[in-house]
Amino acid sequence: MDQETILTYFLQKLKDVNNKKESENVDTKVLKIDQVHPDTGIIKEAAEVIKSGGTVVFPTETVYGLGASAFSGKACRKIFEAKERPPDNPLIVHISDLSELEKVAVDVPEDLIPVLEKIWPGPITILFRKSRNVPDEVTAGLETVAVRMPANPVALMLIKESGVPIAAPSANIATRPSIVDSSEALSELTGRVDMILDAGKTFFGIESTIIDVRKRPPELLRPGAFDVEDLEQYFGAILIGDTARGLKEAELAITPGMKYRHYSPEKRMYVVSDRSLFMKIMESDAALQLTAICSKELASQISGRCISLGSEKDLYEIASNLFQSFRKLDATGKKIGIIQDFPEKGIGIAIMNRIRKASAGNIEAIENLESILSQNDLKNHN
Ligand code: AMP
Ligand code: MG
Repeated sequence: MDQETILTYFLQKLKDVNNKKESENVDTKVLKIDQVHPDTGIIKEAAEVIKSGGTVVFPTETVYGLGASAFSGKACRKIFEAKERPPDNPLIVHISDLSELEKVAVDVPEDLIPVLEKIWPGPITILFRKSRNVPDEVTAGLETVAVRMPANPVALMLIKESGVPIAAPSANIATRPSIVDSSEALSELTGRVDMILDAGKTFFGIESTIIDVRKRPPELLRPGAFDVEDLEQYFGAILIGDTARGLKEAELAITPGMKYRHYSPEKRMYVVSDRSLFMKIMESDAALQLTAICSKELASQISGRCISLGSEKDLYEIASNLFQSFRKLDATGKKIGIIQDFPEKGIGIAIMNRIRKASAGNIEAIENLESILSQNDLKNHN
């Protein structure tokens, strides 16, 4: 290598390092806040950040959101930068009052209003035709906008005080598990966002349900905290396709988020749905090389290291511990996790969607698992 090549190489390296710093050099203000009785002074301070085009990480009843003014394309671009989110994955617009819906959506059917009054605020996101007020950054250029009213006092007061709807995806860095506790927001997003509202753990710990009610029958785009069976009381039978179950990737991206690797731990994770196989694996020598993620009932039957998701009898508890279990798996010295499956009823549909996506299709591939476990690097790994 001649001198000039070496110099160019190092200059490029220096540039890369500086560029990386640029995306992480935001001064992040962290403010503690009570989720049930938020301090109005703190809400005002956070609202100032939104009004001036900044980004705020805030709790909702589902997971933490990374928000900016839904009317500012420039502010919303900061969300994509902070999260390293692909620009073709749209955001959800959060409103605090039904009267705000007409500012972001058009052609809202009149008979939908009484239903919205019943289901909002709550963990259910609905697709509408977008209004021209909503910039392309929010909808990734789509003609539709996803809207919801969160059931969390901090989120509602922040939107109201900001005077604009807030566009927000989940606050995690793209591909990582969603953030359900402020400690994860602090370690993942400090230096990337203007403000973090530190409010402890969120209520559901799993994202909102997304439906397209413009279709007949209405279609579930993403299962989430709002039970689909409960939604059917309002909308009649809802179509739940393979993609919503996490079985198939979306080819035509109506919910563009569906096509990305999602919610993933860094470690490889396998879904083992056969209970006796799960126990056999945990009783074999292989158990030394992996971590099990399972209900406390299953954990009580196996020896070896387990991350407990809580009781199988309460799928809401399982859902609320799921993303943290993926993060705990990453913190172990083991390279592999095995996770049990859960019945696809109620919120169980959302649980299985996240598990399948996080394990990127490694479903009950015991032959695969055996060959991986026999690889030398894993054998020597503690
Ligand atoms: P997140 O909150 O991080 O899960 O991101 C918001 C989710 O809403 C993503 O899965 C998006 O694909 C979905 N979403 C947002 N806007 C739309 C839209 N217009 N059509 C379909 N899905 C959407
Ligand atoms: Mg997300």
